[in-house]
Amino acid sequence: MVSDRIYKLAKRLAKKSNHGRYRLGCVIFKHNEVLGLGYNMLRTDPRSPDPWKFIHAEFHATFGVDPSDLIGASAFVYMERVKSGTIGIGKPCQHCHKLLAQLGLKRIFYTANKELKVLDL
Ligand SMILES: [Zn+2]
Repeated sequence: MVSDRIYKLAKRLAKKSNHGRYRLGCVIFKHNEVLGLGYNMLRTDPRSPDPWKFIHAEFHATFGVDPSDLIGASAFVYMERVKSGTIGIGKPCQHCHKLLAQLGLKRIFYTANKELKVLDL
């Protein structure tokens, strides 16, 4: 399950995103302990060959986390639309899905409009 604290944390993280259409926040947690925080953001390295590439929230949330802590952890992805401010579908893309599964996470929760959905990895 996703506690109220983790839900609000992901929502707050999404506000930091600089994406023009979709803001996502991701919290990686285990037994209610927060391990990683992320949001989608424009790649800031000026050497980046593609100015439109974004770092996804799920990938960002794994930065600096001890890989052994990620085994058995869960992730929650919150997504909102910038224009309307409404909650959207935060289902991870295939790359993030695969990445989190390879890192040993066992479950991903994500917003799906007014519902919360879960993916077992
Ligand atoms: Zn992704």
